Amino acid sequence: MQQFPCPFCGLRDEREFHFAGEAGKPRPDTTQPISDADWAKYLFYCANAKGASHEVWVHTTCQEYFVMTRDTVTMAVLGTHALHEVPA
Ligand SMILES: [Zn+2]
Repeated sequence: MQQFPCPFCGLRDEREFHFAGEAGKPRPDTTQPISDADWAKYLFYCANAKGASHEVWVHTTCQEYFVMTRDTVTMAVLGTHALHEVPA
């Protein structure tokens, strides 16, 4: 079982977390018409980068969303930070 570091609670069992999406993906301008295909692309498509990937996760215990940098090849967690923080 892997443990993930919540920036608010510390190390916790991976079963307490849910993936919430790719970090840094710009939201489409919803004041303009958008096709269903483009909206679906925004909601469901990810870059699925090989290697370091920035992802939004939620810790279901504290209900906080945060960014986790994870190596998608090794599954190693490279760091976490709150959504409002800029990583060093
Ligand atoms: Zn937490």
